[in-house]
Amino acid sequence: MKLLHSLQWRIVLAYTALMFVSMGAVSIYLVNFVRDTYISNLEERLAQEASLVGEATGRFFRGPLDPADLQVASERIGNLINARVTVVARDGTVLADTWEDPTVMENHTLRPEFQDALSTGLGRDTRTSTAVGQELLYTAVPIRVDGTLMGVARVAVPTSTIQANVNRIITTISLAAIIVTVLSLALGYFLARRTSRSVRSVTEAARRLAAGALEQRVEALSSDETQELANAFNRMATTLRDMIRDLSGERNKLAAVLDTMADGVVVIQSEGQIELVNRAAEELLSLSPRGVVGGRFMEVVRDHDLQRLVSRSLETRQRQHGEVELFHRRRFFSAIATPLARGGPSGTLLTLHDLTRIREVETTRKEFVSNVSHELRSPLASVKAMVETLEDGAVEEQQVARDFIRRIHREVDRMIGMVEDLLDLSRLESGQATLHLSPVDLRPLLDEVRAQFQERADSKQITVDIVLPEALPRVLGEEEKLRQVLANLLDNALKFTPERGSVTLSAKAGDRVVKVSVKDNGIGIPEEHLPHIFERFYKVDRSRRDGGSGLGLAIVKHIVRAHGGEVAVESREGEGSTFSFTVPRAN
Ligand code: ADP
Repeated sequence: MKLLHSLQWRIVLAYTALMFVSMGAVSIYLVNFVRDTYISNLEERLAQEASLVGEATGRFFRGPLDPADLQVASERIGNLINARVTVVARDGTVLADTWEDPTVMENHTLRPEFQDALSTGLGRDTRTSTAVGQELLYTAVPIRVDGTLMGVARVAVPTSTIQANVNRIITTISLAAIIVTVLSLALGYFLARRTSRSVRSVTEAARRLAAGALEQRVEALSSDETQELANAFNRMATTLRDMIRDLSGERNKLAAVLDTMADGVVVIQSEGQIELVNRAAEELLSLSPRGVVGGRFMEVVRDHDLQRLVSRSLETRQRQHGEVELFHRRRFFSAIATPLARGGPSGTLLTLHDLTRIREVETTRKEFVSNVSHELRSPLASVKAMVETLEDGAVEEQQVARDFIRRIHREVDRMIGMVEDLLDLSRLESGQATLHLSPVDLRPLLDEVRAQFQERADSKQITVDIVLPEALPRVLGEEEKLRQVLANLLDNALKFTPERGSVTLSAKAGDRVVKVSVKDNGIGIPEEHLPHIFERFYKVDRSRRDGGSGLGLAIVKHIVRAHGGEVAVESREGEGSTFSFTVPRAN
């Protein structure tokens, strides 16, 4: 804006200077021309007047000359033409003069105008008159009567009058020049201002457009040229807006596609700078969203395998493929670096496909098979050992044989129990088990479960209490499944509580759910095991031969979740555990 201002003033200044110079030159030329014309006209007029004086005074030379008459006639003419008139005899004697007494005037033979008049027919001179004491312009012509030279007629005007007239002309011309200059300057200033205002409004609009105001337009301007500029600007702004809209639409689409992709995408320029990275890639490579784009891939992504893959693709311009494992994040993915050819070698496109989940499923499957095998191996091994012992003759000893058969029975029951648990779990995990929900009264259910385990509790002298509020709302669930949950929890509580311990079954109603807890003062669970306790096959002490398969709590969790509830555990090693779960209230 400042620049434009100074530009405007510079134009005005230049224009002013030009005006002054040209008007000055014109004025000087005009003054010279008019003065020269005036003077030459004056000289011509004086010559004519001198001739006229010569004609008028010629008759005085025909007869005897009467100087007084000549003087009177000269004065009359002098008055008429408003000039000094002098009549000089051929010998230089002044015969008449309108401003001076001729008798006292000296001989004029030596006067230049006199001599010139005689020699050329016209004499001129400018000098200060000795008689009148002021500068005069003299013009003299010869007086002839019938072709005979009789004298010289001279006309003179003061140069001061000429100068005054010339000065008047100069003043008039200068004044006119000044008026014209001022007027044209005012006009120029007005035009410059109007133009610069138009240019300024276009500049202002361009500035706002550049700042992102895409709807910015220039309003109608004053002159045709600036209006054309404004129209061109407005057309450009519209095209620009449409182009930007199209481009950002495309970009948004691309960004949306890239960001919703499950696979990671990174574009790396040929110099190694990251040009683009999508959300999945940020997540997979745990990059912070800021400062990644523009950074060097080798510095931003600190994985050696990925770095090698990308640099090889950039060097060889060949597609590179590899499986990469980020150990610190326990993530696996398949990475493909494809060279990009955008009119010449220009970078590589790295795509990352997350295999972590697949690997996890694979690992889980392997673990599952190994767990099941492991769990079955020990009862099968003991069954086998006992069968072999029986075969080797123990069958003959009735007592031993009966004991072995009872133990074989127990192992087989355990295996059947485990297979049933596995089937239950698999049904629950696959979501195949549909629940038949109905309002269930927990009070009788808890009583039944306690009764079911009473014998076992008694055998360890463990007291099992039931603590319920007066009014316990019914829950919405499948009675058999809830019974299974309670039985599993009570079974564990009795299993992991030493003799003479105590177990409490309780329930508490919340706004929407009822929370059921099974609390014991048994061995408790070390803190580090608590997060895994509901995982299948998880056992705190694997060496314990307590008959458990580690599936009970996993089944509990799945049944509770299928009811829309949650399981929780609180435990302290050596002090006891409290397992609890929630079930929705029936009303
Ligand atoms: P299990 O059939 O072995 O009992 P669970 O899934 O029911 O399998 O339990 C998993 C593990 O959690 C058990 O092996 C035991 O270590 C621990 N646990 C479960 N309940 C209790 C409890 N009340 N007190 C102490 N430890 C328990």
